[in-house]
Amino acid sequence: MTSTLEEIYEEFEDLDRQDQSLFLLELGDELADLPDSARTDENLVHGCQSQVWLTVSCDGEGPDSYLEIIADSDSSIVRGLIVILQSAYRGMSARDILNFDVQAVFQRLHLQQHISPQRRNGLRGMVERILLLAARVAGQGAEDSKVETVAVKSTPQLHQTAVPFDAGLIRKQFPVLNHPLEDGSLPVYLDSGASAQKPQAVIDKQREVEERYFSNAHRGTYQLGVRIDEELEGARASAATFIGSATPDQVIFTPGTTAGLNYIAAGWGRRHVQAGDQILTTISEHHANFVPWQQLARERQAKLELIPLTEDGRIDIAGFQKLLEQKPRVVAVSGMSNMLGTINPVREIVRLAHDAGACVVVDGAQSVPHMPVDVVSDDVDFLVFSGHKVYGPTGVGVLYGRADRLEEMDPIIFGGHMIDQVEASGSTWAKAPAKFEAGTAPIVQAIGLGEAIRWTMDVGLAAIHAHERVLVRQVLEGLSDVPGLTVYGPGLEYRGGIVSFSVDGVHPEDLAALLDERSIFTRHGHHCTMPLHTYLKLSGTTRVSFAAYNTEADVTAFLSALRRAVSVLRH
Ligand code: PMP
Repeated sequence: MTSTLEEIYEEFEDLDRQDQSLFLLELGDELADLPDSARTDENLVHGCQSQVWLTVSCDGEGPDSYLEIIADSDSSIVRGLIVILQSAYRGMSARDILNFDVQAVFQRLHLQQHISPQRRNGLRGMVERILLLAARVAGQGAEDSKVETVAVKSTPQLHQTAVPFDAGLIRKQFPVLNHPLEDGSLPVYLDSGASAQKPQAVIDKQREVEERYFSNAHRGTYQLGVRIDEELEGARASAATFIGSATPDQVIFTPGTTAGLNYIAAGWGRRHVQAGDQILTTISEHHANFVPWQQLARERQAKLELIPLTEDGRIDIAGFQKLLEQKPRVVAVSGMSNMLGTINPVREIVRLAHDAGACVVVDGAQSVPHMPVDVVSDDVDFLVFSGHKVYGPTGVGVLYGRADRLEEMDPIIFGGHMIDQVEASGSTWAKAPAKFEAGTAPIVQAIGLGEAIRWTMDVGLAAIHAHERVLVRQVLEGLSDVPGLTVYGPGLEYRGGIVSFSVDGVHPEDLAALLDERSIFTRHGHHCTMPLHTYLKLSGTTRVSFAAYNTEADVTAFLSALRRAVSVLRH
């Protein structure tokens, strides 16, 4: 049995900061071992610098069931904080926990003044998790308990409840979607493929940085400097977990997907692609994953060749294998096409390309926000994505590189922070990620991205993907009987949350304008895929693209506005 709260109060009373840390260490020794089955990713508490797993066991369901907090950490001081939480909530029902003022306990212990800002964040994360689990057991929605939804996988001996995916509740967290337009209507936002909206948590996080601890990163060792570094590196660690990178050092913050692909084409490509070499890509790539390779090929006198597509817009694997016989240096493909919606079989592409000795670059701008991605299992050489498509800020993105590939890659931007030694005669570079992050990082945006990633992981990418498929099915069925309408790309089996189409005799710009009149926001044009539009003999298309917050009602509104618009425009 661990100490009671009264005993802790008594011991803590007259301790100064240093002695409090020693006491927390001692308290940590009282903590019982956590069963291995509870050390799961789902039980990890976000916002802690150390690793913390937290779950509850309970004797039933409903507000009167009793909860026991079960947790552990790899930090001894955090173990001490867990003992305080266990003592504070001991013997309480779910209802009691939800009504309990735990902050008063922290205040009486002067904890907030004595622990580091990062630990305070971690403590807040643990309390939020406890409240969430208590709300679930009590049978309340996450909304009522003012905490975000997280997916908690059940572990055999612990009784846990999972929150179902609810796009309506998710949508409530997005201010832009709940802010009336000039005519009083709410936006039906169907352009997340261009940029997703941000949840309140991300907006708040950026504001928190600006208001409470902004300073430059990797510079000052004063308190603000330490805090900002912890936050920035915490964001990097979250991004690494998100894509399955073995270490955060392989995650480089960039201004976005376009910049990341240029870094790779120039920094890796110029060194490794020689005259006569072949670079493979597809006609369906976004310009960001096409033009840098075209430029590199021109500069190196290499050949840019196109992997053939099937009629429904998927990679033709037999055609790809044929091209691989010529031993290309690079294969650059997207995880998901931003026009066709095709999900490419990245793992198979990598396996085949590696057998042929090629380096594989994946443009994850559309795949990373919409489906689980694991760079280690897929064994990709490089993967890039943008913050603003994954519920995060603009101006920041991620370039992941396999450790050996990052060693082989030259920086293309030089200056402060990226150096090891600078002398009048020459300079040497720091190791990744610093080597590729010259100058001041997009600090606030990167920390915001970390929050967006934690938000996305809490909701669950598998759930987001499944939800978007439901919406895509509804769109495809709804569009199937509109006369003269052609949908591009494959069927549901190979498609993510994007549908592009054209309607005979209707200009995409006119269509977009009429949809806009009904506050339905779609994208029209070539979607930065001119080669694909030329190949399909189209000047432009209309695109709808989804995210976690879109609902079936959005699709219904879109389909009815589309029918009206088409009949008006055909007159
Ligand atoms: N690749 C794909 C597949 C995209 O959809 C986009 C954005 N539309 C990009 C690259 C470029 O992303 P960014 O503008 O954030 O650099």
